[in-house]
Amino acid sequence: MPYDYDPQNIFARILRGEIPNKTVLETAHTLAFHDIRPQAPVHVLVIPKGPYVTYDHFARDASDAEIVDFHRVVAQVCAMTGVQPGEGGAGFRGITNAGEAGVQEVPHFHMHILGGRPLGRMLA
Ligand code: AMP
Repeated sequence: MPYDYDPQNIFARILRGEIPNKTVLETAHTLAFHDIRPQAPVHVLVIPKGPYVTYDHFARDASDAEIVDFHRVVAQVCAMTGVQPGEGGAGFRGITNAGEAGVQEVPHFHMHILGGRPLGRMLA
């Protein structure tokens, strides 16, 4: 099993309701909530409810319904937080860190949605 999922990771505990979160949006397959240490005025984490460790793991093993739902929630979060560039927002950055080289802290796949200030050029 190349993607060992730790059911005690903090986002698994949030999904089980063991730790509170500031929910932005919840659907059948996906949860979006505010990051506890925001790096920008808008800093929302979007996570699937399923046990996926990294983005490639999710893209490989999740159902089509989970994958579509996840990305629709990303779009809804952008709209709800006012960062959607096509709709008057100033834009955002979506980041997903994976594994050791990606400096992933929480081993449950998540996408950071950052915005609300100029973010500067950053690819690495
Ligand atoms: P990463 O380095 O991509 O794994 O980022 C993990 C993110 O999770 C960091 O930005 C943390 O601030 C955030 N985080 C950790 N614990 C919590 C929590 N209990 N609620 C919300 N965000 C959290």
